[in-house]
Amino acid sequence: LLGDDGRLRPTIFAEMSALATATGAINLGQGFPDEDGPAEVLEAARQAISDGLNQYPPGRGLPVLRTAIAEHQERFYGIRVDPDRDVLVTAGATEALAATVLALTDEGDHVVTFEPFYDAYAAVTALARAELITVPLRSPGFSPDLDALRDAVTDRTRIILVNSPHNPTGSVLDREALELIVELAHEHDAVIVTDEVYEHLTFGVEHIPIASLPGAAERTITISSGGKTFSTTGWKVGWLVAPPHLLEPVLAVKQYLTYVNAAAFQPAIAAGLRLPDRYFESAADALRRKRDILSSGLSAAGFAVGAPDAGYFVIADAAPLGAEDAAAFCRSLPELAGVVAVPVTAFVRDENRAHYASLVRFAFCKREDVLDRAAAQLASLP
Ligand code: PMP
Ligand code: GLN
Repeated sequence: LLGDDGRLRPTIFAEMSALATATGAINLGQGFPDEDGPAEVLEAARQAISDGLNQYPPGRGLPVLRTAIAEHQERFYGIRVDPDRDVLVTAGATEALAATVLALTDEGDHVVTFEPFYDAYAAVTALARAELITVPLRSPGFSPDLDALRDAVTDRTRIILVNSPHNPTGSVLDREALELIVELAHEHDAVIVTDEVYEHLTFGVEHIPIASLPGAAERTITISSGGKTFSTTGWKVGWLVAPPHLLEPVLAVKQYLTYVNAAAFQPAIAAGLRLPDRYFESAADALRRKRDILSSGLSAAGFAVGAPDAGYFVIADAAPLGAEDAAAFCRSLPELAGVVAVPVTAFVRDENRAHYASLVRFAFCKREDVLDRAAAQLASLP
């Protein structure tokens, strides 16, 4: 993440999407869908522009969206929140994460998270001059090492940063792990920050929002986004839900990051959040089929393939193909197979890269014909 000069390097996603554009390879690197989301949501954005929602929205977000977020929390999880007090709309989950870490940590505070981790976690922790402490997710299935978690959380821990469902592994934390996180947060007076952007994209496994556990809500900031759920990653409509004592300091920072964003897209995401249950179920089902197509293709090509329970990504081990260095492998993959993917080392601390050296992350949030084509091309790998 950080170059030798200590500055942030360009993200792996920018690098790999540029490689896909330059080589014409199929982009299974950056996680974004190649099909539009629900027509009602797209139409609501067009309508909002026609209705003149083209100026700055309120700092906390448009009331229609904050209300829809509060209703969504109650409808899916039985969590009751006040849309005027406990909800903040942000420029994607990314801004919610950045504003939260910047607001809540001081130099040297610890942010504890699982490794591998979504790359922004290390970047915003570095920007805040806090220290990222990582707890490994172990094979098989990338489940958390709970003893290592107990050791990692101390009185220096300011934030326990949870990501379930998880990018890049597709694992989903179970109740036991979530309960331990709540217990540790109480014991060490830490704040739980939970990134749940893949909350609706699970494959037969229950997503449990940590804020729904007893004693959690008062110390939890829940972050999500419309990007994944409604296939609108470019709209950058995210949000956080938190009690006022946590939300207010985050809002204070957020107003100097973007101030506000995406006026016309906010009512559109509100319309999405109000879609019937069958929309959410069919989105997950469609993605599950895509996972299966790509996973079979990767197995047939000789990779050792994980079985993600959620999200956009599958991790495949390239070691059986003789590729011990996934970063080099991913640089040559466009030429070898016309496919772009991302090495898992992009999601780990530099000193731990060796543990993940041969692992590759492939995105399956693509049209089935594209995945079929990618599978056929990968089958020709030597
Ligand atoms: N968190 C995770 C785990 C993600 O995978 C992503 C994006 N793919 C984000 C946050 C960022 O979400 P957004 O695009 O809403 O900023
Ligand atoms: N979250 C997406 C991924 O993991 C990409 C987001 C980005 O480009 N920063 O691929």
